[in-house]
Amino acid sequence: MLRWIDVLKFAKYSNPEPREREEKTDEEWQQKLTPEQYNVMRQKGTESPYRNAYCRSYEPGIYTCVGCGTLLFNATEKYHAISGWPSFTQPSTKGAIKYMFDDSHNMQRIEVQCNTCDSHLGHVFNDGPVPHGLRYCINSASIQRVDLENDHE
Ligand SMILES: [Zn+2]
Repeated sequence: MLRWIDVLKFAKYSNPEPREREEKTDEEWQQKLTPEQYNVMRQKGTESPYRNAYCRSYEPGIYTCVGCGTLLFNATEKYHAISGWPSFTQPSTKGAIKYMFDDSHNMQRIEVQCNTCDSHLGHVFNDGPVPHGLRYCINSASIQRVDLENDHE
C-alpha cells in the first residue's frame, strides 16, 4: 500500500514503471475523447463538483482510464470524501499512476496522471482515511467503471 512519503518520492525522483505505454497525437486524442473528456484529460481541466458521474456512485467493479483502458482503481478503494469528486484511497497497482508536482492556481498539489497514456486524472492529497492517509481526488470524466466478471464456479 502506498503512503504519502511514497507519493512524494515518486513526484520528486522518479515514477514507477508503467506496464505499457500508449501515446497519441493531439488530433487522435480529440477524435477519441468527448470535448469534456479532452478538456479534463489533455488540458488538465476540472469538471464540476458533485455534478459528475461517479461522485456518489459506490457500485462494485473496477475503474479504467478513458484514454487507454488501463485499470486504475478498484471500487473497494472508493470512499465518501465530501469533496464533490470520486475519491479513492489507493490505486489498483503501484505502477498504474504517475505523480507530478503542480503549483498552478497558487496551490501546491500533486497531480496524478495515467501512467500508460499520461492523461490527467486529478490530484492526490494526504488527508485520506487511515491507515495510509491518501485521497486520490479524480475527475469522473477520466475514468470508466466496469463490472467485474461474475465468478460462476
Ligand atoms: Zn490512460
